[in-house]
Amino acid sequence: MNYSDSERIATVLLKLGYTPAKGFGDADLIILNTCSVKQKAEERIYGLGEQFKPLKEKNPRLKIGITGCMIRQSTGLRRKEGEAIFRRMGSVDFTFRIKELMQLPEILRELHQVEGADDVKDLCSYFHIPQTITNIAQVFIPVMNGCNNFCSYCIVPYARGREESRSMAEVLDETEKAAKRGAKEINLVGQNVNTYKPADADPKNKEAPFAQLLRKIDAIPTVDRVRFYTVHPKDMSDDVIALYGELRTMTPHLHLPVQSGSNSVLKRMNRTYTVERFKELVAKMRARIPHMSISTDIIVGFCGETEKEFMESYDLIKDLKIDLVYVSKYSEREGTLAAREQKDDVPLEVKKDRFRRITDVMRGVSHEYNQQFLGKTVQVLVEKAERGYTFGKIPEYKFVRLKGEKPELIGQYVNVKIKKAMEWCLEGNMTKI
Ligand code: SAH
Ligand code: SF4
Repeated sequence: MNYSDSERIATVLLKLGYTPAKGFGDADLIILNTCSVKQKAEERIYGLGEQFKPLKEKNPRLKIGITGCMIRQSTGLRRKEGEAIFRRMGSVDFTFRIKELMQLPEILRELHQVEGADDVKDLCSYFHIPQTITNIAQVFIPVMNGCNNFCSYCIVPYARGREESRSMAEVLDETEKAAKRGAKEINLVGQNVNTYKPADADPKNKEAPFAQLLRKIDAIPTVDRVRFYTVHPKDMSDDVIALYGELRTMTPHLHLPVQSGSNSVLKRMNRTYTVERFKELVAKMRARIPHMSISTDIIVGFCGETEKEFMESYDLIKDLKIDLVYVSKYSEREGTLAAREQKDDVPLEVKKDRFRRITDVMRGVSHEYNQQFLGKTVQVLVEKAERGYTFGKIPEYKFVRLKGEKPELIGQYVNVKIKKAMEWCLEGNMTKI
């Protein structure tokens, strides 16, 4: 979501006449689009604040702004003394809530005396600002913003506010424009995509609006792959599951964040589903696509998590063969329900140890999963070329690398015969077949 938001900020800056800098050192303007899901992410931003001080001494024109989830109140210049972010980061000139991106031209008019982007000011939603696609192989299209769930550990509902869905017409229009520019894969994003509720949904159609949207995107002939993030297990509907195997664009991979394999922990997290529900969803998906890749998120060391409760998460990954896990050590976020009502009482050393154990078990599963591709020729959509390799993904969401940097292939398909299947990645050679 932040990646996609940055592409809208880029549109405003380009309209104002700014051009991309090579790095911090030659920039006149730096905007940090922040994440505050974990304390560590915020600390990194505060660290950058220190780094910017000497840059400002060298370049008096340099202005620094902050947006994203760290900014939860007021948009504006450095006027409101006492605001925490200005107090901790002396180099910051302005902040704005991402929802109030429409006010950025006004701020920059005052700071840099730039003119333009007047058509942005009166828009009622920042989603009406078109995106500037930065990588045609990785197009992210938001379907909604905000969250109504209030999982007890999570800051997102406070940072992004309540759920607001974009109209289906707007999502389709943006998708079609991206497809015309050459996008073959579309990533639909939102905190909880299955509760997508656009104002222009057909009230007579009984199918979930998100399923309707997936059908409409499937009808765009040049779009081959659709992915979506994230899905809350309580909301994944049978309507959407039924589309796997039916629509040609549904990819054999689903990111389904479970957070914990223990019902008692899920209850304390206010996740409102049980592990049995998660298992049932995985079984339904695999009944439709047997080799379906399932990835998930796990938080280790949540308030009061015992060794036994942790082992329930460990066993879930192992038994269900979840082949990719984004593991996080619980990080208390001020203002959340857990920070107010529960104790962050699992020692850091224990969190680190559980993090390592979940990572180890996942590596084993992933290594085993990847063996199925050995000797096969797979279709790779190339995303990037760096560190001596060209990288891309297959429909199952596995990275494939080829020796040699070939940036000219970005956004294109290549067929690759897999020679090596490692834990994190597959490797092979390009072939014609
Ligand atoms: N909407 C998604 C999650 C978005 S936040 C969902 O419902 O699953 C992305 C991930 O960050 C979460 O899945 C969780 O694993 C992690 N996360 C969120 N808050 C956290 C916290 N306070 N401490 C540690 N990890 C956290
Ligand atoms: Fe956070 Fe829960 Fe909403 Fe996901 S569903 S964004 S974890 S509150």
